[in-house]
Amino acid sequence: MGILLAGSLSDAEWALWEAAFHGALPGEPLWRSRDQADRAAVDVAFVANPLPGALQGLPGLRLIQSLWAGVDRLLSDPTLPPDVPVARMVDPAMNLAMAETALWAVLGLHRGFFTYARQQRAVQWQQLAQRRADEVTVLLLGLGQMGGAVAQRLAAQGYAVSGWSRRPATLPGVATHTGDAALADTLAEADIVVNLLPLTPATTGFFDARRLAGMARGAGLVNLARGAHVVEADLLAALDAGQVGHAVLDVFQVEPLPPLHPFWRHDRITVLPHAAALTDPRSAARVAAANVRAVRCGQPPAHAVDLQRGY
Ligand code: NDP
Repeated sequence: MGILLAGSLSDAEWALWEAAFHGALPGEPLWRSRDQADRAAVDVAFVANPLPGALQGLPGLRLIQSLWAGVDRLLSDPTLPPDVPVARMVDPAMNLAMAETALWAVLGLHRGFFTYARQQRAVQWQQLAQRRADEVTVLLLGLGQMGGAVAQRLAAQGYAVSGWSRRPATLPGVATHTGDAALADTLAEADIVVNLLPLTPATTGFFDARRLAGMARGAGLVNLARGAHVVEADLLAALDAGQVGHAVLDVFQVEPLPPLHPFWRHDRITVLPHAAALTDPRSAARVAAANVRAVRCGQPPAHAVDLQRGY
């Protein structure tokens, strides 16, 4: 038995992970590459966006544990062994970090702090109308690990929070909805829309010209999920037309965001470098270790991905 580490991390990043794994799984053989690994002995792979094909030729593999919460890139590898369960990273520490980022973005939009930053650059002294939190409607798209934590944090902060998911959900203090009709209604009512959907065929290009036109005029958009949820040219057009008031974007079609990309210098876009909720090796290694122990005892791993649904 032993664990293959596969993915696009620097040596320094892997060193941090290895230290955390050694703490969580003392004595466990860890191999940083297929070439170094005893391939017949590998029963688990810890992966961080590995190159396509990286998990082929491992006959004893019985768990693919993603170190990232989003598995869209991993699942797009056609050579992924079909019968090996894929578990995604679900770490309460990440949910907390995501809730902090979302709260910052929502506060910034609600209280006009991004507008004040723009005014500072223009040497402009102008107070904006001040609304109470309960007068601000925030719509959460996706009520899973991240979206659920964010919805509850925003509700606790006093915002009028609604949420939308595929299956019905119950969350204290959150008005939850499913289906296309409810989506259209809640989208039209929201002052701020926060996206925390997974990237699947059903959600790719979700924010296109039609959906952006269905938002309340001047509403804020916060995308903390995946860049491909947003049709970037359509968002630029909606911002320039005043249909979307301001966008806070953590994720992009191409990352790192290319230096000449218009988002960098757009007055109504706030850019984050995919930093809304970083995986913390210290807590994530413990989550991964629990799944290793589970599969080695013949149990299914926690948070296995449904390959049909794509998340
Ligand atoms: P989960 O799988 O826990 O939750 C997904 C939610 O979206 C569920 O409520 C699900 O509904 C809902 N959903 C999925 N498909 C649809 C659909 N077609 N229509 C309506 N609702 C849908 O995901 P997480 O909360 O862990 O992650 C959310 C996003 O955050 C992902 O895109 C992930 O990649 C991203 N992420 C971003 C990070 C960052 O730093 N920016 C860090 C970590 C994650 P149901 O409950 O019914 O299944």
